[in-house]
Amino acid sequence: MTPAVRTTCPYCGVGCGIRVEFDGERPRIAGDEAHPANHGRLCSKGAALADTLTLPGRLLRPKVLGREVAWDAALEHVAGGFRRIIDAHGPDAVAFYVSGQLLTEDYYVANKLMKGYIGAANIDTNSRLCMSSAVVAHKRAFGEDVVPVGYEDLLAADLIVLVGSNLAWCHPVLYQRIAAEKERRPALKVVVVDPRRTPTCELADLHLPVAAGTDVWLFNGLLHALHLGGAADAAFLARHTAGAEQALRAAEESSADPGTVAARCGLELDALRRFYAWFAATERVVTAFSQGVNQSSSGVDKANAVINCHLYTGRIGRPGCGPLSITGQPNAMGGREVGGMATLLAAHRELANEAHRREVRAFWDSPRIADRPGLMAVELFEAVRAGRVRALWIAGTNPVVSLPDADRVRAALERCELVVVSDCVEDTDTNAYAHVLLPAAAWAEKDGTVTNTERCVSRQRRFLAPPGEARPDWWMFCEVAKRMGFERGFEYASPREIFLEHARLAAAGAGSGRLLDLGGLAQLSEGQYQALEPVRWPIGAAQPSAAAQPFADGRFGHPDGRARLVATPPRPPAHAPDAEFPWVLNTGRLRDQWHTMTRSARAARLNRHLPVPFVDLAAEDAARLGAAPGDLVTAVTRWGRLDAPLRISGELAPGTVFVPIHWSDAFAAQARVGALVSPAADPSSGEPEFKHTPVRIERMPVDWYGFAVSRTPVRTDAFAWWARVPGEAQQRHEFAGRGRPDWPRLARALLGAPPDADWLEYRDVSAGVYRAAHLSGDRLEACLFVAPRPRLPASGWLEGLFARAELSADERQGLLNAAPFRAAVDEGPVICACFGVGRRRIEAAIGAEGCATVRQIGARLKAGTQCGSCVPELRAILAGRAGSPAAV
Ligand code: SF4
Repeated sequence: MTPAVRTTCPYCGVGCGIRVEFDGERPRIAGDEAHPANHGRLCSKGAALADTLTLPGRLLRPKVLGREVAWDAALEHVAGGFRRIIDAHGPDAVAFYVSGQLLTEDYYVANKLMKGYIGAANIDTNSRLCMSSAVVAHKRAFGEDVVPVGYEDLLAADLIVLVGSNLAWCHPVLYQRIAAEKERRPALKVVVVDPRRTPTCELADLHLPVAAGTDVWLFNGLLHALHLGGAADAAFLARHTAGAEQALRAAEESSADPGTVAARCGLELDALRRFYAWFAATERVVTAFSQGVNQSSSGVDKANAVINCHLYTGRIGRPGCGPLSITGQPNAMGGREVGGMATLLAAHRELANEAHRREVRAFWDSPRIADRPGLMAVELFEAVRAGRVRALWIAGTNPVVSLPDADRVRAALERCELVVVSDCVEDTDTNAYAHVLLPAAAWAEKDGTVTNTERCVSRQRRFLAPPGEARPDWWMFCEVAKRMGFERGFEYASPREIFLEHARLAAAGAGSGRLLDLGGLAQLSEGQYQALEPVRWPIGAAQPSAAAQPFADGRFGHPDGRARLVATPPRPPAHAPDAEFPWVLNTGRLRDQWHTMTRSARAARLNRHLPVPFVDLAAEDAARLGAAPGDLVTAVTRWGRLDAPLRISGELAPGTVFVPIHWSDAFAAQARVGALVSPAADPSSGEPEFKHTPVRIERMPVDWYGFAVSRTPVRTDAFAWWARVPGEAQQRHEFAGRGRPDWPRLARALLGAPPDADWLEYRDVSAGVYRAAHLSGDRLEACLFVAPRPRLPASGWLEGLFARAELSADERQGLLNAAPFRAAVDEGPVICACFGVGRRRIEAAIGAEGCATVRQIGARLKAGTQCGSCVPELRAILAGRAGSPAAV
């Protein structure tokens, strides 16, 4: 076994540390016990990372117009194209759209190139879709984009309020740490504010199923109740804040009467009063918020309404209290530090501040500096569509899937003169529109730093060589910059040199009142950079090891040193439901997938939890529609449509709909939820309203449903709908269609079986049932099952057969029954990804074997005993609350 490489998980903003050891060729991944974010824990996604390090599907060589070329030719093409368009149309005619997956060093050079050398601020990022509302709210309240709370504060709180945050699935290790603390200290109270009863609610003492879009009423009401209840910290307000009167007045105007607030928010009055009383009576309160707050046309006001309550009570700058914005992506925070957004400059300087612009330009010694904000994500793609932006470099993100009004994004890229995409995956929905494809090094092949939710800078360390001709993103941006004539600003030999420059720029603000200070890291030798331990900023040259608690001295980043309470008169969401689109669409992440699945779907075990896209409805609404779980439905909005099977999770209130964000054209037909989402955005942050789009749900007319499991891809052109579920040695396609096919003929064509194939078949014409299996000798090649309704046998046993070189006689006999000849053992949907424990086995352990607690299930089946991500679902199954499986 080789010595461990310590690096960081590339998924969510918790920023867990991991240890990689090699057992021969194969890397083994475990949680890093020494990392302060996770102390050795990993969730199901982190624990499955080794399974994602596969080569098939990787983009390995540069391509121009579909042809492989040498790096030099590709870089010349990009630099020449950008230069030509800038010369003809000015610097605002080009743009970069980057990603919170990039490392700080990548972000730094991309931002420097765009703002200091090209001279425009058209660099935006998919972090715009995730936490830009929190950035603006922090700047309004604190005068600087500072997250004032760390994980230790969260765990030291006596009341944790989780707002718009399904922590159990989106930030699982943080959830597990809270769960462990609550078990140790049962007096710790947890309140969940969320329209859905998500798995996070399994931990909640109180769940407030607030009506979508009404958070500002709720927190204005809290501010007003704190005022009436005498909870103000008068001394703190007088010495360290401004704006309390205006904020209170706005709160009183919208939310003076708890009864009115409860009615507006769709809450029970008693529950509302209990929340207000708990908050008022608890000194140590952390209010953690994420996309449920940020992704709104009033996301900034929602965040400020939360922050107001902490400022009003002086619950900030002290251990165990404060507002905590939880970031979605692994390095959204690093991107913010280097200013890698269209509305920021660098190292917390302001684009609108002339002195800051002069300072940064002098530091960079750059020929120019952008002097006004660039285009934010949604406007950027609109400008591409309108022809105002003619060259676009997309790095490490998939906007054709992830942006709102995504069909319009596709149309924009179709028209764009020059689309460059740097990515590690060859076929994505976005890459289809690229003129130039640049092969990027993936997570395991890159060196640099990331910053997590709690301002902790960690090293990401390379432990694999990049395959083919893949290169790190920072190298590509520097090489293009040099070929554009900017040699002098981009002569970096390593990511360390970039990091030191970034740290020096951040340190240059020390003494100005800004908290972002990396002075203690500005002189790292190569050895020190390699060995850098996780460290939270501020980390000044004078105190290089310990981060002070932000705002502990009551000084904030506004010129007068005072924080601002911000008046937040509530606004309804941009688009209200109406007769044509009567319900409200909410979108979000699932436990075991990440973004557009280009990495997570490579791990077969992560595809077994919720394997296909779905439309989740309340049982009452499904009944009104006359649809049952597994039936195909169509979601229609003013912007687009999506087809998927119905799910009834039991998490939703009537009139609301939930669809996951992950599926793209690569994994399913017509299942990009971005195509449905309204492009309305918060006017200050530009963050789109992913949580509130009026929608209509219809039954999708189909005549048959089916699935095929095969070693090679099946043809999908005969299907009205399909979804692909990658496995280890096989893939499963779920599908549905119309008409009355000649199944014996069609099945052979779909599965690619030769005429002389060993073919087993069962057909019941009057019942509309058809089943077939294709073998080569005793090896199973493919099988296909069709029925008129989505009531098909479970495919788990069949999928397991693809790992076998030959089948036994019993197995052959059981093929068309989807179960072995002598026993039925299918597990159903997988709940525990680590040990592959399915729901039926868990239900059997509860029913027949008498397991009554999560611990007993763990002792019996091991489920929930490794990463712990499935524990909320185990609790829900024990309580009889688990919803229907999504799979047809
Ligand atoms: Fe990775 Fe899971 Fe940790 Fe997030 S919580 S950083 S996905 S291991």
